[in-house]
Amino acid sequence: MITIKRFAFNPFQVNTYVLSDPKGECIIIDPGMQGDAEESKILDYISNNNLKPVMLLLTHAHIDHIVGNGFIAEKYNLELTAHKDCVPFLEGAESYATSFGLTLEKVKSIDNFIDEDTVIKFGDSELKVLFTPGHADGSLCFYSAKDKFVITGDVLFNQSIGRTDLKTGDYDLLQKNIWEKLFTLPNETVVYPGHGPETGIGFEKMHNPFVAIGKE
Ligand SMILES: [Zn+2]
Ligand SMILES: [Zn+2]
Repeated sequence: MITIKRFAFNPFQVNTYVLSDPKGECIIIDPGMQGDAEESKILDYISNNNLKPVMLLLTHAHIDHIVGNGFIAEKYNLELTAHKDCVPFLEGAESYATSFGLTLEKVKSIDNFIDEDTVIKFGDSELKVLFTPGHADGSLCFYSAKDKFVITGDVLFNQSIGRTDLKTGDYDLLQKNIWEKLFTLPNETVVYPGHGPETGIGFEKMHNPFVAIGKE
């Protein structure tokens, strides 16, 4: 069973997730930490639980989700794994950081490109990759059928959906991907979004005002 630890980092309160396997290997998703206090929180969690980080992964490359990339990559000597459509966001990351009031000391570029044919493996655990653009190009969700959860980034939130007014946003595509890739998962699947608290696929199908109502 995968253990999921959520941290809310930086002024945008991005959820950074550490997913660990019983064997002690872990992956870090969307490293948003800024400054010593936030960096210490994740380092302490990893060392106190004797975890071995083996992968650094992005749901997408909006600036609030990537500001801790350089720190984590250097600290644990990790490569960065993301979809290839994230590249333009990383190329512009320094100017995005300044315009959003964040500090970005070094930009880590992507080492490994993944897509829906990739299976993410750590310890004895696996995650399926779902390609879900619409909020931003290169958006991925990560699904565990066995442990019944999905990491959704900024695609689907508790009773909300990702904004589509930023560069590469596409409202119709976001709706299509939510319905085709996420709402086809079992209702009991727990949703871990990029911001805010957890929710469930079944609950969102019934109660999310941005998707549930007006579909018919
Ligand atoms: Zn985003
Ligand atoms: Zn975000």
